[in-house]
Amino acid sequence: MHSEQQFDIIIAGAGASGLTLLWYILQSEKLKKKRVLLIDKNLEPTDSKTWCFWSDGNHPTNHLIHHTWNELEVITKSETINGALTQKKYHCIRSLDYSSEILELAKLNHQVELIETEIQGFTNSGEKGVVHTGEGSFSAFWIFQSALLPPDFHNSVCDLSLLQHFTGWEIETTLKMFNPDKALLMDFNVAQREGATFFYLLPYSENSALVEYTLFSPDTLSEEEYENELRNYLSNKYYLDKKDYTITRRETGVVPMEDRKYAQWYCERVLNIGTAGGFTKATTGYTFSRIHDRCRLIVKSLEYNAPLPDYPVSSYRFRVYDIMMLYLLQHETEQAVEIFGQLFKKNSFDLVLRFLNEETSISEELSIFSKLSYMPFFRSIYKMKHRIFLGA
Ligand SMILES: Cc1cc2nc3c(=O)[nH]c(=O)nc-3n(C[C@H](O)[C@H](O)[C@H](O)COP(=O)(O)OP(=O)(O)OC[C@H]3O[C@@H](n4cnc5c(N)ncnc54)[C@H](O)[C@@H]3O)c2cc1C
Repeated sequence: MHSEQQFDIIIAGAGASGLTLLWYILQSEKLKKKRVLLIDKNLEPTDSKTWCFWSDGNHPTNHLIHHTWNELEVITKSETINGALTQKKYHCIRSLDYSSEILELAKLNHQVELIETEIQGFTNSGEKGVVHTGEGSFSAFWIFQSALLPPDFHNSVCDLSLLQHFTGWEIETTLKMFNPDKALLMDFNVAQREGATFFYLLPYSENSALVEYTLFSPDTLSEEEYENELRNYLSNKYYLDKKDYTITRRETGVVPMEDRKYAQWYCERVLNIGTAGGFTKATTGYTFSRIHDRCRLIVKSLEYNAPLPDYPVSSYRFRVYDIMMLYLLQHETEQAVEIFGQLFKKNSFDLVLRFLNEETSISEELSIFSKLSYMPFFRSIYKMKHRIFLGA
């Protein structure tokens, strides 16, 4: 491979956001002639993630959905809340299926070149962005990168910072015991550690499910601690002894939950996307739908040679809501957990999901807030006023 090879578009990072962007580019008639380079240190599809999201059934990658749930359940300290989903359904896609399909599509397409190498950094040179890799440097009119944190990342303002960290097991049980139509979204009726702590359980069939132990806290746990908690949960809640199930897959993750305003540009001509671009919702960690929404916009801009969308994924209003809730999650965990419960108890699941997807109107949001304890929010507004009243 020669250095300084030129492309129209470079996608640096072939995870959820890089592959999604590539997928939308390959669907576009108007971009058929663009030469695209996809770079990642590992271009082998991996079975490392399960991406959950909700949609109305018209999701562009519907055919890759692994399982869909029509009902959700949330368990608080005192009650179990069940809700049928009428507007949107809860889905999951496995990263193995997603990356296999898109990478295969890329390999068959003459428009795309793939290089497996370490990305070292980005610069710009005149009208082009340049990516520096173990295989040399490559330039393009636009580079979209999800591999590296922007250079001044750690200097950007960040008052609230938690990690959403988790370990999950996919299990097969000897007995049929799950309802594959209903996902347990959050079970808070467990020992709360130094941050909001819950389990979720996504049944794929009557005897298989993904069960995950999740915490919103500053520090991760040891592998042994997650595993012990999972084992205890299956034993206490489902009366499953070790011999009653087989672990068929493990999944671990750490997702940032921060009020940081992520830099949109790594440098001129190099746009940050995915988690590196701040697409992760600060209070939930959900990113997958937001990646799709933003990649659709990017491709529209590329098609019409229009300026790229380089504003934060969340509007000011939703950034304020996230800051308020994140403050409670970090400083008043018990209140925050109670508010999660109230949110689902006092509103329909359909409305809550639209709210979390940032699709609600102000009047719907006021109606949601009017049903929640408001004193904690007043406190968080007061404590975070320097952010909220200065553009969030
Ligand atoms: C286990 C897990 C489960 C998740 N589940 C959900 C979910 O259910 N719903 C949801 O909405 N969100 C979920 N998320 C959050 C988010 O959707 C994912 O983290 C998503 O993968 C983020 O996409 P990304 O493109 O930003 O990053 P990634 O998917 O991590 O992609 C980054 C890519 O860059 C490559 N890379 C990194 N550094 C280099 C380098 N130096 N050189 C070359 N390549 C490099 C990596 O190999 C990787 O392929 C989950 C996250 C994890 C970790």
